[in-house]
Amino acid sequence: MQMIKHSKILVLGTGPAGCTAAIYLARANLYTTLITGPIPGGQLISTSGIENWPGDYPSVKGIILMERMINHTKNLKINLINDTIIKVNLLKKPFLLIGNNASYTCEALIIATGASPKYLGLPLEKELLGKGISFCATCDGFFFRNKNVAVIGGGNTAVEEALYLANIAKKVFIIHRRNIFKAEKILINRLKDKSINSKIDIKFSFFLKKIYGNKEQGLTGIKIQSLENSKNIINLSLDGLFIAIGHEPNTNIFKDQISLTKNKYIKIGIDKKYTTSTNIKGIFAAGDVHDFKYRQAITSSGFGCMAALDVQKYFNK
Ligand code: FAD
Ligand code: NAP
Repeated sequence: MQMIKHSKILVLGTGPAGCTAAIYLARANLYTTLITGPIPGGQLISTSGIENWPGDYPSVKGIILMERMINHTKNLKINLINDTIIKVNLLKKPFLLIGNNASYTCEALIIATGASPKYLGLPLEKELLGKGISFCATCDGFFFRNKNVAVIGGGNTAVEEALYLANIAKKVFIIHRRNIFKAEKILINRLKDKSINSKIDIKFSFFLKKIYGNKEQGLTGIKIQSLENSKNIINLSLDGLFIAIGHEPNTNIFKDQISLTKNKYIKIGIDKKYTTSTNIKGIFAAGDVHDFKYRQAITSSGFGCMAALDVQKYFNK
């Protein structure tokens, strides 16, 4: 039997939302346990430079910002635990959460489990992960010096990944299913500058039809097809493929107990008194796990703060 640890409040996740929530709770003298989850620091640790975190001009490395946030929690009375929750029983109180290393009970819970990268769902995609296929240019770009790589997607992540890879790889293809990027203007302009010297080749209105390779050789190439003319098919010989087609919320373990939207985000504001409330009294959600609209570091931190203030109000009542 696993040891059961009780705390008044439990916060799940150490991205901007979870860290901010824990900091606000500790400063309100509410004894809080903060569980790191599988990725201490969350999504931002995979980005090279954050240029829109206020006060950090011109930019701050994702890993540095998140180290600072986690250190902030370490300096307060917060019980920081390295564990990942795999099962929950939230239907009776105290809430029970079972982790890989221990079990936890609590009277109030803030879910800040964020989001994970989406897969395309193509054969070989998962098998070749780490063998040419990656979700993180900052982490793996180094392996593709002077090689040919492609990025799939058209959002901020895809464009940032392509810009990062353009400084390392021989050639970077961007394959996007539309003829216009979703990314911010400032990033698109940088991309245009890099495309001039033909380092970056943008394939608009194309989709990835097939991945070539095997476990021994790793990724060897891809087949892409035009969405405007199905006869326009191109085979690209590649060493690296970076998939950047967005994220999905980490809500699997809650799905039978917490109300979710159709696209699996946690529904909040169910109790009108608390913006971050879920369908269960005493359980709140913050950050990318519920926010399918803004999904920024600053908004996640903002929601973390709101959830902590909602918890305080909940206990005061
Ligand atoms: P996350 O950062 O996703 O953190 C989730 C946390 O939950 C993690 O610590 C994880 O370990 C934990 N967790 C997950 N499952 C469990 C579990 N079962 N049990 C316990 N814990 C769990 N935004 C910007 O504003 N500026 C940028 O420049 C920027 N760049 C980005 C670059 C990239 C490559 C990506 C992918 C995103 C970027 N974003 C940027 C978006 C930003 O990273 C997210 O909006 C933000 O990290 C969301 O914070 P969060 O705390 O809600 O979740
Ligand atoms: P995103 O904004 O959701 O963009 C995903 C992109 O992938 C879209 O262009 C989408 O196409 C495409 N796509 C989705 N499913 C696909 C599929 N099955 N096949 C092919 N293409 C597919 O995701 P993101 O770029 O990861 O960004 C996530 C959040 O983090 C956003 O809120 C973003 O602003 C934030 N972020 C911010 C920064 C920054 O501030 N610098 C950096 C990175 C991320 P469509 O265009 O057709 O929808």
